[in-house]
Amino acid sequence: MATPGTEIVELETGVFARLHEGLTNAGIIVGDESVLVIDSLRVPSFARDLIKDVKDITNKPIKFVIDTHSHWDHSWGNEEFPDATIIGHKNCYAEMVDVEWNEQWRKKVTSSNDPWSEEGNIVNITPPNMTFETSMQMYFGGRELDLKYFGKAHTSGDIYIHLPNEKIVFTGDVAQDGGVPYLGDCYPVDWPETDNKLAALPIERFVSGHGPIGNHQALQGARDFIHNLVNSVKSAIADGQNATQASESVINQLTPQYGSWRSFDRIGENLPSVYEKLKA
Ligand SMILES: [Zn+2]
Repeated sequence: MATPGTEIVELETGVFARLHEGLTNAGIIVGDESVLVIDSLRVPSFARDLIKDVKDITNKPIKFVIDTHSHWDHSWGNEEFPDATIIGHKNCYAEMVDVEWNEQWRKKVTSSNDPWSEEGNIVNITPPNMTFETSMQMYFGGRELDLKYFGKAHTSGDIYIHLPNEKIVFTGDVAQDGGVPYLGDCYPVDWPETDNKLAALPIERFVSGHGPIGNHQALQGARDFIHNLVNSVKSAIADGQNATQASESVINQLTPQYGSWRSFDRIGENLPSVYEKLKA
């Protein structure tokens, strides 16, 4: 039986989305001799649950881990895969070896009072050991996997795992179906253009780092949200509003269309930093 709170959806034979209600999703792809997982999840115990769920599917060993980006809830389980090649973007690597970045995140995680926060103290943050810059192809179990980088967005090193024949893409945190991504580390100058490239992929389904499986229309909706967000912050700046006024007016503008999206209620926390980045 799968870990409580998770649902494992077989998208195609051997291609699974492991959805975790309210937490972080992962992907599982079964090859001829081994298994590839997409995102190692938040702390080692979460990675061990993921490994257990993989074992329910197949006895093949996990030989590849792909980090969609550096954020702790996607990559802090990496240490549980000592025999795997861990693949990520070179900027993901750079973030994960950045001492200040790691300390800041560790502080956030350990002070959060969540059931996993104490375990955050003992995480041995393990960066990817294979990186790429713009794209990388893998042929895995007879399947083509195109790993793509389209530019900075949710972080500096977000990558997408595109299965062109199956018309599926794993998007990490750049796009969610009906959810607002965390904006605290984002690159609002670059994100809209990056999203244009992502939404141009000829896909039918996408698996986000959070929330349900989406269709192509939902992927375009996620792109439109970022465009609307950035445009409304920009127009607040053009109007001469300060960060506080801008946050308020942006929230007012976006609420009718996006107020019901997951995490929309937390958007105010990081709007001032988005404002500063766009103003610079
Ligand atoms: Zn993230």
